[in-house]
Amino acid sequence: MGSKRRIGIMGGTFDPIHYGHLVTAEAARHLFGLEQVIFVPSGRPPHKRESRVTPADERLQMTLLATVNNDNFIVSDREVRSKRMSYTYDTMRSFHQELGDEAELFFITGADAVLEIMQWRKIEEVADFCCFIAATRPGYRLESFHLSPKLAENIQFMEVPALAISSSDIRRRVAAGEPIKYLLPEPVEKYIAKHGLYLAQDGCGSNFAEESVVK
Ligand code: ATP
Ligand code: MG
Repeated sequence: MGSKRRIGIMGGTFDPIHYGHLVTAEAARHLFGLEQVIFVPSGRPPHKRESRVTPADERLQMTLLATVNNDNFIVSDREVRSKRMSYTYDTMRSFHQELGDEAELFFITGADAVLEIMQWRKIEEVADFCCFIAATRPGYRLESFHLSPKLAENIQFMEVPALAISSSDIRRRVAAGEPIKYLLPEPVEKYIAKHGLYLAQDGCGSNFAEESVVK
């Protein structure tokens, strides 16, 4: 039998996807010898329930546009299709069940999300079949993280440039009429303009709290 396949999973709201996400995924692919990185736009992100989030279909479209010219990047619509709340824990477990023990999974994340990960239910169980790759700003002090021993064993830190880019800053820029060019791929920039996304800071996208009301 050959060695295990190494698969990266990059979850996110991707509202919108930007070069910070793409640079991080590509760096992880290269550094950890990943066969592919699967981008998983969230359906209904539990932590962003209260805020307005662009409809999942549009975030999926932008993720597809941003990744289409990298043969090692693929996009999964599993969370977008799911009617349930997106918990990364469930997503990782479903990838594990689907790919089996033949695949080694690497969850790629920004270091800012590490604290969130530690609060996942069954985090210790996830750490049995998944390693975490946390992107940090160059020179960032890693000692500031207090990780459980199991997580500490399963997490690797990786320095990437471009960490100052964020989706919230891009949304703010669009609303303020500031440029977003060079912060994200051009097709995504065009998509945002064509569909009028983020023009009013509180006016675009759907509100999950409203959406979830059963009529
Ligand atoms: P928002 O500003 O709305 O929180 P975001 O830019 O953080 O958006 P998300 O979709 O929330 O984007 O993030 C998805 C994943 O990508 C998270 O693990 C996050 O830590 C990571 N990430 C976000 N921006 C960067 C960046 N510039 N460099 C590296 N990782 C990033
Ligand atoms: Mg974020």
